[in-house]
Amino acid sequence: MRTDSFALRHIGPNESDLQKMLTTIGVDSLDQLIYETIPDDIKLTTPLALPEAMSEHAYLNHLHQLGQKNKIFKSYIGLGYHESITPSVIKRNILENPGWYTAYTPYQAEIAQGRLEALLNFQTMITDLTGMKLANASLLDESTAAAEAMTMLFEVRSRPQKKANVNKFFVSNEILPQTLSLLKTRAIPLDIELVIGNHTEFDFSNDFYGAILQYPGKYGEVFNYENFVTKAHENEIKVAVAADILSLVMLTPPGEFGADVVVGTTQRFGIPLGYGGPHAAYFATREEYKRNIPGRIIGVTKDTDGNRSLRMALQTREQHIKRDKATSNICTAQVLLAVMAGMYAVYHGPKGLTYIAETVHKSTATVATELTKLGIEIKNNSYFDTLLVTADAAKVKTLAESKDINFYYVDDATIAIALNEAVSLTDINAIISVFAETVGATFEEVTSLTETTGIPDSNKRTSEFLTLEVFNQYHSETALMRYIKKLERKDLSLNHSMISLGSCTMKLNAASEMLPISWAEWSNIHPFAPIEQAEGYHTVLTSLEKQLNVITGFAATSLQPNSGAQGEYAGLMVIKAYHEANNNTHRNICLIPASAHGTNPASAVMAGMKVVVTKTDEKGNIDVEDLKAKAELHKDNLAALMVTYPSTHGVFESSIKEITKIIHDNGGQVYMDGANMNAQVGLTNPATIGADVCHLNLHKTFAIPHGGGGPGVGPICVAAHLAEFLPGNPVVTTGGKNAITAISSAPWGSALVCLISYGYITMLGAKGLTDATKYAILNANYIKNKLEGHFNTLYTGECGRAAHEMIIDCRPFKKNGVEVTDIAKRLIDYGFHAPTVSFPVAGTIMIEPTESENLEELDNFCNSLISIRKEIDETNTEEPNNVLKNAPHTLKMLTENEWNFPYTRQMAAYPLPHIAENKFWPTVRRVDEAYGDRNLICTCAPIESYM
Ligand SMILES: *Cc1c(COP(=O)(O)O)cnc(C)c1O
Repeated sequence: MRTDSFALRHIGPNESDLQKMLTTIGVDSLDQLIYETIPDDIKLTTPLALPEAMSEHAYLNHLHQLGQKNKIFKSYIGLGYHESITPSVIKRNILENPGWYTAYTPYQAEIAQGRLEALLNFQTMITDLTGMKLANASLLDESTAAAEAMTMLFEVRSRPQKKANVNKFFVSNEILPQTLSLLKTRAIPLDIELVIGNHTEFDFSNDFYGAILQYPGKYGEVFNYENFVTKAHENEIKVAVAADILSLVMLTPPGEFGADVVVGTTQRFGIPLGYGGPHAAYFATREEYKRNIPGRIIGVTKDTDGNRSLRMALQTREQHIKRDKATSNICTAQVLLAVMAGMYAVYHGPKGLTYIAETVHKSTATVATELTKLGIEIKNNSYFDTLLVTADAAKVKTLAESKDINFYYVDDATIAIALNEAVSLTDINAIISVFAETVGATFEEVTSLTETTGIPDSNKRTSEFLTLEVFNQYHSETALMRYIKKLERKDLSLNHSMISLGSCTMKLNAASEMLPISWAEWSNIHPFAPIEQAEGYHTVLTSLEKQLNVITGFAATSLQPNSGAQGEYAGLMVIKAYHEANNNTHRNICLIPASAHGTNPASAVMAGMKVVVTKTDEKGNIDVEDLKAKAELHKDNLAALMVTYPSTHGVFESSIKEITKIIHDNGGQVYMDGANMNAQVGLTNPATIGADVCHLNLHKTFAIPHGGGGPGVGPICVAAHLAEFLPGNPVVTTGGKNAITAISSAPWGSALVCLISYGYITMLGAKGLTDATKYAILNANYIKNKLEGHFNTLYTGECGRAAHEMIIDCRPFKKNGVEVTDIAKRLIDYGFHAPTVSFPVAGTIMIEPTESENLEELDNFCNSLISIRKEIDETNTEEPNNVLKNAPHTLKMLTENEWNFPYTRQMAAYPLPHIAENKFWPTVRRVDEAYGDRNLICTCAPIESYM
């Protein structure tokens, strides 16, 4: 046996675990279990056509070698991306720390207070810098955030104005090109009419509901938008501003000149370029739109004892509740990156940020002064960090590239130069020397930065920011390291115990997969750098696309979407483009089973489709008769079916091929939601079941860590007939030959973290990947059998087997006064994160152990649930003061002198022996969700400041 095989490290159960588990399940072999689980007619008969697995050591060498093929130039390209310096203390203690990156979205607030606080800091930083009242806890990138602003303002367009039928949206021609592309993508299906133009010539006519401006403009000009906003408001037009976050340290914040929404990216707050992402975008707005904000907002509330605690507020699960009434499909966001950007502000504080912004600005002024001396025309009258200059672009490009420098070449005679915090005097001299040489002049090296400024007085920021304590007390490394640790300790992540979230696939995020993302040769490339400088990247990205083609059975892949929900939207837009190319523009009906994830209907509506819900039968399967009837009823207008496979009920439906055939027979395309791909890899695939397109959640099945709620990567894989429509990018060529407009800001989305999935597939190889799937199914069925007699599994396949996850019914315990939430919270006392609660069936939990957990951990988990089951039996509706209702128990309450509970302290905190070894203490008692929503506080300002 090769003990250097990565599969041995990735897959939890060992040989002796396996035998015991098979016995419990009652099968002779793993293959028999798989045989009984997956319908015959969809089973793959040949192994995945992938190379043999690479060992971890070999893989790291491989990535080092590929990394050498990326050329790390100094990039002054700008356009929303700037080199930045990740403080080492943040890199080491957050980015490279599984305590942070393996956490899940903070739905279980009691064991997520650390990242909730970090996100509250992020929100506070955004409200302070933008001058707005309310900010969310991140969106996917600047361009999608701008699109969300456009759609949110569309949604509220008749509040208070009577503009219900107005659909024009003005887009300044200063907007970033990738944002324009994305606005187009999002506007068309919603019948929003974009009018692109010069904001100084806009006529404020009454048929506009909103407008978006770029601040500073795409090539650096610092416009004063005060008059624009005033006039817009006089004409009942709402205004969104896409603003550079660092510039807001020095420029009047948009909130102070009346903006209704402010969006942008926080990439330059210490987040690596990563060839496009991941980075956290921000979205800030007025308080009156608090119920319309896309994404998650963190808010302050209190726990059972009245102590301050945090949780996700308001419409946090918006698409899950509103479904086809939702206006945004955002689910996974960019939590890890938002945590880092917020921490960058905590570390630098207002003084540090001011120093950084001023240095960037002075560096720009220095370049401007020196270029002017050389007789080179600076076209912008004002600037923060970007200059637009007139020069021979071809000449400059050749010279610059010979010195490892990138500028942005606007046209033959115009060049943009965007500076950043990593620019030194040496770099400034190098920039000047390129231009001096181009015009044949000599120049004197600059030895200090000029004090002149390019910011007009009327644009200068006068207000304070980041005045709260948290931004002014952690400026030494010791202090910040301890603050980060203090927050980390409050959170339960995969480095503590199993997180068995159904549908979310919380598997191992291996260190060897993670290491390369912090290497400079991968992290420091601008997404719009010339493609030949990113050869290493393109080798990885192309290989990953091919690997995913093989795994899905499809012909082509786009890595652009930044989350599963973005993949859904991208896939539906590709289907739409296909129908349009076939003169079937009218096809707009999307069938979606009742059990679908909330993002499915939300994405369909965003793609301009009409959702028709199909029924589920009593066994949890798609009701084929109902589906058939609806497909036939709508056959003239059928666009697509969205189907999750195996189903969200954790079952391989045996009628799946019949289902996909019905859709094709009626002129529709089949979209497969690939969130459950962990049950398919190597055993079956979307092409085989008859789908035309699917998304994959690389942050579920393919080992990208959840990061506490992002980053995510949601590539779409498509059959050959759809490949030509894969999404493009306006700056760098990518996508199909008839590409739809952009889905994300960056051409290859969050390229940096694609390395993780590439590593996962490369190190597992065909056999390891297939084994991973088999063991995922094994682990799920082991739990199912182990819990038998204590809990009921709601749905199973024809032979009584679960897929890779199962739904456990908790509704019968209502008669004891026990709700599913009580079970979820009590699990915390046992050291576990709750499984998925109430999805897809209310009052149930959905357990997905993944292949990475071994028998010991599975047993600890099952024994905990079984012990909880006993506690439920001892509980009744008469006595709400019980161990379940009071869960979770904090160390503080346990060590109080008084103990007024009808059970022992030991029962509260150490109900089973395994807990003593590895106790997790939540820092708050159960949080009051409703209280926080009634009294919304979304910044870290002390409570008194609201009184
Ligand atoms: C996770 C999930 C999604 C959404 O994916 P995100 O990456 O969070 O946007 C969609 N469908 C199902 C079934 C999921 O489990």
